[in-house]
Amino acid sequence: MGKSSKDKRDIYYRKAKEQGWRARSAFKLLQIDEKFHIFDGVTKAVDLCAAPGSWSQVLSRRLGSQKNVKIVAVDLQPMSPLPGVIQIQGDITKFSTAKEIMTHFEGDHADLVVCDGAPDVTGLHCMDTYIQSQLLLGALHITCNVLKPGGTFVAKIFRGKDNDLLTNQLLTLFKEVHVVKPSSSRNSSIESFVVCQNYSPPEEFNPKLITPYLNIANKDFSTLEGINRTIIPFVVCGDVSAFDSDTTYPLQLEGEEPYQYRPPVQPPIAPPYSFTDTLKKEEIEHCVQKMEDVALTVFSSNAS
Ligand code: SAM
Repeated sequence: MGKSSKDKRDIYYRKAKEQGWRARSAFKLLQIDEKFHIFDGVTKAVDLCAAPGSWSQVLSRRLGSQKNVKIVAVDLQPMSPLPGVIQIQGDITKFSTAKEIMTHFEGDHADLVVCDGAPDVTGLHCMDTYIQSQLLLGALHITCNVLKPGGTFVAKIFRGKDNDLLTNQLLTLFKEVHVVKPSSSRNSSIESFVVCQNYSPPEEFNPKLITPYLNIANKDFSTLEGINRTIIPFVVCGDVSAFDSDTTYPLQLEGEEPYQYRPPVQPPIAPPYSFTDTLKKEEIEHCVQKMEDVALTVFSSNAS
């Protein structure tokens, strides 16, 4: 394949190089801004999952000329330096990284938090979506602790059947939430972005308290109060004199008809274990041996 074939196939890849962006993703943030004006009045921003750094470049170019600009960029991977951008190498789902970001905002707040985090895609849709949602949760925990009221949060999500639930949950923290697909994001990709504006957490909401993940010292839920403490009732139902499901009773119960064995009313018609009936003894032994080998390999790699 010729050197220029990707330039031909992907216009944003080509334009990114022409305009000096480290990645084509720069256009996604620029297009989100065209629609939602996310940089208006912003001097302090956090870029989560920032490498190789095109979103940080956008932030630096768009905020750079003002006074007191602060841009903090975080990624698992090392990132080549960018003027005016504080860089942290760390995992955004870890307490230590969240704490390090927050130290840069001590007594101060960010106007904007962006997160373009994506896992290394495995191709297993459930697994990829799960990891993506963990990144979003990590980003949201950090956001709740550093974003100023009225601020904006932009994050990558994978489109899926639970998106309505997610946007409704975000609406408890932000006045406006949109799901956005910039035209530079490939249609073949399941990515889209949530643009959450006007951060308005409920009164007395204390993210440090309700996210023990960020406040290891405060894992004692009994110390939480007010809006930060939600107690879901644990309800026992059934008569107190009803049979106890953990007790072994004699077959012949007092005052009842003589005990008589009865087969189950309706056994499963295609139980998952039924295929073992078709296997020969040697095949079963072979499977068991294979499983033991796998378990041993996993165990020894974890132990080393
Ligand atoms: N916005 C970036 C840009 O414009 O250059 C591109 C981001 S790239 C699509 C996704 C990034 O997420 C990768 O650099 C990856 O290392 C980072 N990432 C994935 N999981 C992470 C985690 N748990 N903590 C921090 N960064 C993470």
